[in-house]
Amino acid sequence: MRSLAIANPCASSALRRSSPLCSEDPSSPPLLPISCALLQSRSGGKPGGWHFGGALRIDCASRSIRKDGSNNHIFASISDVLVEQSVENAHFPRGDMWSVHKFGGTCMGTSKRIQNVADIVLNDSSERKLVVVSAMSKVTDMMYDLVYKAQSRDDSYVSAIDNVFEKHMLAAKDLLDGEDLARFLSQLQFDISNLKAMLRAIYIAGHATESFSDFVVGHGELWSAQMLSYAIKKSGRPCSWMDTRDVLIVNPTSSNQVDPDYLESEKRLEKWFAQCPADTIIATGFIASTPQNIPTTLKRDGSDFSAAILGALVRARQVTIWTDVNGVFSADPRKVSEAVILRTLSYQEAWEMSYFGANVLHPRTIIPVMKHNIPIVIRNIFNLSAPGTMICQPPVNENGDKKSLESVVKAFATIDNLALVNVEGSGMAGVPGTASGIFGTVKDVGANVIMISQASSEHSICFAVPEKEVTAVSAALQSRFRQALDAGRLSRVEVIPDCSILAAVGQRMASTPGVSATLFDALAKAHINVRAIAQGCSEYNITVVLKQEDCVRALRAVHSRFYLSKTTLAVGIIGPGLIGGTLLDQLRDQAAHLKEKFNIDLRVMGITGLRTMVLSDIGIDLTRWREFYKEKSEAANLDKFAQHVHENHFFPNTVLVDCTADTNIASRYYDWLRKGIHVITPNKKANSGPLDQYLKLRKLQRLSYTHYFYEATVGAGLPIISTLRGLLETGDKILHIEGIFSGTLSYIFNNFKGTRSFSEVVAEAKVAGYTEPDPRDDLSGTDVARKVIILARESGLKLELSDIPVQSLVPEPLRACSSAEEFMQKLPNFDEDRTKELNDAEAAGEVVRYVGVVDMVNEKGMVELRRYKREHPFAQLSGSDNIIAFTTTRYNNQPLIVRGPGAGAEVTAGGVFSDILRLASYLGAPS
Ligand code: ADP
Ligand code: ASP
Ligand code: MG
Repeated sequence: MRSLAIANPCASSALRRSSPLCSEDPSSPPLLPISCALLQSRSGGKPGGWHFGGALRIDCASRSIRKDGSNNHIFASISDVLVEQSVENAHFPRGDMWSVHKFGGTCMGTSKRIQNVADIVLNDSSERKLVVVSAMSKVTDMMYDLVYKAQSRDDSYVSAIDNVFEKHMLAAKDLLDGEDLARFLSQLQFDISNLKAMLRAIYIAGHATESFSDFVVGHGELWSAQMLSYAIKKSGRPCSWMDTRDVLIVNPTSSNQVDPDYLESEKRLEKWFAQCPADTIIATGFIASTPQNIPTTLKRDGSDFSAAILGALVRARQVTIWTDVNGVFSADPRKVSEAVILRTLSYQEAWEMSYFGANVLHPRTIIPVMKHNIPIVIRNIFNLSAPGTMICQPPVNENGDKKSLESVVKAFATIDNLALVNVEGSGMAGVPGTASGIFGTVKDVGANVIMISQASSEHSICFAVPEKEVTAVSAALQSRFRQALDAGRLSRVEVIPDCSILAAVGQRMASTPGVSATLFDALAKAHINVRAIAQGCSEYNITVVLKQEDCVRALRAVHSRFYLSKTTLAVGIIGPGLIGGTLLDQLRDQAAHLKEKFNIDLRVMGITGLRTMVLSDIGIDLTRWREFYKEKSEAANLDKFAQHVHENHFFPNTVLVDCTADTNIASRYYDWLRKGIHVITPNKKANSGPLDQYLKLRKLQRLSYTHYFYEATVGAGLPIISTLRGLLETGDKILHIEGIFSGTLSYIFNNFKGTRSFSEVVAEAKVAGYTEPDPRDDLSGTDVARKVIILARESGLKLELSDIPVQSLVPEPLRACSSAEEFMQKLPNFDEDRTKELNDAEAAGEVVRYVGVVDMVNEKGMVELRRYKREHPFAQLSGSDNIIAFTTTRYNNQPLIVRGPGAGAEVTAGGVFSDILRLASYLGAPS
């Protein structure tokens, strides 16, 4: 203890107290270091002086010491001796003439910034100004680190404190000159040498009491306040600086917080003002004293709270909090790029926001000002033209406005690093005192309960605590309820680690139906699992607990759903070939319209081919996607691609669009859907592949609320799957589906008539680009069979592709031809049979068509040539049109017919595009 006493913090306070900055005495001589001559231990006794750890009393030198020329006499502090003498004469003005400003660490980050702050203060024309400052940015962290290093007996605290000195010395040299600079540096040097001695003592003891630590860390504010004060004084404006440890008196509470003692603080403020009745006061944020004059702090980020308390004490007109953002955003702008500035917030909303993690405002800032109806304005020091956010009592008529969900939910905030504790058991129901037992135990551990949720069955209580406190909480609960657990009245105390809280905040959520439904809907659609829910009785917030890894995505999902009422979709395009490329062009042409008219924001975050891919964090500029793909691409990697599109973006919903015909890519759908990635494709491979895999995929799709759309797998852009679904979902019964599903074969048979030969028409179709490079791929019928199986499965038949008999139009001997050319060359040899078929049909007044059939009555599918009367709709086709006839219980005499172009890049891409829009509308886009 002795060494602690010699560490001598009082010398620093001696200097602090005799600082010349109290500007009614601007000619005060430069200070000499004054040693603290008397250190005496005291238990109890009159207030005044600093106490450390309750064991020491250090009465420090005051202004009077300097005045009487002695530096060896120690008087009680300014607050209980000098001020007491003059307080009766002082009139402390309160009210509208005061404006309070608070400048955060970033505002005070460099000498230039401090000068900028000085200019802002000087430009404020208020009659009286009280300016609260934080330490220069990072300084408080550095100070905490010093204490941590010293008590961990890490020698590097010495060089670390030199860095602190250097930072302030350089800033001061830049900002000040002459006598002011000398005074400041002398003070700084003195403080630093005392801090070194104190840290040395901490180093030896291997421990720092809370008050030692608070004393050390508060120096950042002492220095920044003095620098600013000198900077203002330099311009000729009288100005005093205030060490708020002389004025703000706070009582520590059990929950690592402090409660202001307004009455005592008011008295001390009056005393202080009697000594320094300045119009402009620069006060230290963050620091205060206990009623026993032990230095303390208002805890991390507490300067906002300091400003609010002082604002309340002087009954200020307004408290302006200057920071580095344009105001309070609808969500943390670092996490949601589309967050918007809120022009106004009610006190309650601001409180909820800050409580739930929006660190733009310290959570306790609201309470002092709310009592006196003093507005808080959050403004950006780097953007003076931004009006900022006004936090005040909402005008009475605001509640009468038409409510839309967007204005009801004002903002979202999140808290990370939490754990959920779940206490469960049938013995809890109806047993009074269980909850109080649980929370009493949690309180005894000193843990901070952030949210509580209890099922109405009283079967379980779950609550969230900071992750670092959960081990102690769980152990304490296990021991407190040992008996109940052993007896089975409680089944378990479960800890779910790595959780976050997401809170939706809005004063008008009360009595607005549908808010929670929309919130949970947005979360479900983004594939996010909610672990616990709570809604405050005030209904100012709804909180959900989720896994931390989902938190940012959840935040984006709910934010875009509510606040912007915009549907944002991150899109990844696989296969920028003919269909994929056309789709990208279509997206390019429609993007602006969709955004403007339907509030749908589609962003292509990546394009991948077989060998190369391009990725973007904000969305590829589609006007230049081809160049971008050529110039900026990297080696393709499908896992990295999917992960990038899904995770590294600012959009909650992701869709991968597979424009290939690749089986390997189709085999990934399951995994993507499982991760909550929606899939859209014209690729038939997944739905016509092995039945068990298809069923697994569809089951997952239903269970996971993830969408899988594949309209373009059958009939390109024609609404075939959706028509079929519409019939089934409305209770119609499918009896029979029959159609011409191949554009190529449609073209061939539409033109195979009269005297033309079959091979001649095939050759013509090939030249016109209607066939695959090897026409056998079309003529084999496999592609049609895949479409038949897709429709059969969609209708409920459990068939494999191999169950579909397919009449191939490739003559048996030509199946082995090694090239398309050889095949085309030999095809005329087989024209005779086709011509005969044609002539027979024509003689009977019929046509021949290559069709796919789903026979639901006999649970079969087939692909074959069939003959139709010349009046039949199938006989009326032209070009490469598809036609599909649905015979159902409702459409029995006259089948429902869908007809139109069923092949080609434009219409297929169009079909995929309309699936993307369908997805957007499922996700909440307006119709
Ligand atoms: P200061 O040092 O000025 O007190 P803080 O870092 O404590 O500044 O608070 C400002 C920061 O709070 C902003 O830079 C921003 O990143 C963060 N922040 C978190 N949530 C919000 C929100 N909803 N609105 C505005 N800022 C927010
Ligand atoms: N300087 C203190 C901190 O960083 C207080 C504040 O800036 O609000 O926690
Ligand atoms: Mg802050």
